[in-house]
Amino acid sequence: MSVRGGREGTDAVSKEFVIYNGRRVVKGWPEMIQAAQLELTVEIGGVTYQRIRYGDEPDDWGADRQPCHDCAAIKGQFYVGGCDVECCPVCGGQVISCSCGFDEPD
Ligand SMILES: [Zn+2]
Ligand SMILES: [Zn+2]
Repeated sequence: MSVRGGREGTDAVSKEFVIYNGRRVVKGWPEMIQAAQLELTVEIGGVTYQRIRYGDEPDDWGADRQPCHDCAAIKGQFYVGGCDVECCPVCGGQVISCSCGFDEPD
């Protein structure tokens, strides 16, 4: 009667957070940001381009006021791969929505 199955699906996914650049980010994220700073270029269609730093893109994403809303990079830093603000150096659009073949360094 009182059979207790193993309780799976702990609803409290205990993610650990840390504060970085004044933002709450998942643990390990600051290391991701640091690693992103080492990727100065990106290869698109066989051509190497300089990556665009937060604050250097044509659109104003608030770099002067706050860290990137997506990846928590601050002005002058490179975005973490996959950030939805990252600007494509080819077309000037957002990497996530352009079709230039932006390749994650990862
Ligand atoms: Zn970002
Ligand atoms: Zn593009």
